[in-house]
Amino acid sequence: MAAEELLAGSLASDEPPRQTKRPAAFVDRDGVVNIDHGYVWRIEDFAFVPGVREAAAELARLGFAVVVITNQAGIARGMYTEADFVRLTKWMRERFADAGVSIAGVYHCPHHPTAGLGALRISCDCRKPAPGMLLAAARDLALDLQHSVIFGDKCDDMRAGRAAGVGVRVFLGRDGLAPPTDPCTDALVSLRYASLAQAVADPQLRRALGVEAGRARATYTGASYGRNP
Ligand SMILES: [Zn+2]
Repeated sequence: MAAEELLAGSLASDEPPRQTKRPAAFVDRDGVVNIDHGYVWRIEDFAFVPGVREAAAELARLGFAVVVITNQAGIARGMYTEADFVRLTKWMRERFADAGVSIAGVYHCPHHPTAGLGALRISCDCRKPAPGMLLAAARDLALDLQHSVIFGDKCDDMRAGRAAGVGVRVFLGRDGLAPPTDPCTDALVSLRYASLAQAVADPQLRRALGVEAGRARATYTGASYGRNP
């Protein structure tokens, strides 16, 4: 324990120890959890990316609070309603529960700065790449952002993660098909994979997260991934 505290202290000397806070695995939705057909809001159009629920269950088993964070500008554009989103989210959480994982939180941004209708046309602080959803989750769920990880298929996910101080940022390919080809600077990205399932299976990610295969997170060893400017 002493070694862990020393290491944590050296990484965040301006912050008090956060032994009561837990790390999160922030997961983008469209393109990471489900196939991104574009503005998915109906249950019948929602297809899970293969292996994503099992991977989320493994992250939860390793001690991470699994939190979904998603821009939902389709609400701003009037393509579907807040109630539609809530209905789909309830169904999605039940399907995760079927796979043995309780989703700790789902945060969405219903705004758009130029295409939104009425009050939803604002430059908010929650639409990624802004960090508002991550910061809200950290407050609500007592999360340790520095020891958390974010998974997303857009560079804006990585930017939001860095803005919030999320230590490990994993860039995924869209719909889990192939490693990401979108440009995103290496300073924003810790690791790249095709899918959440591939990421969670890789020993290199586990080392970055401070977890070993087969047992829960014990010590943080991801120092090289949290120091980007
Ligand atoms: Zn917003």
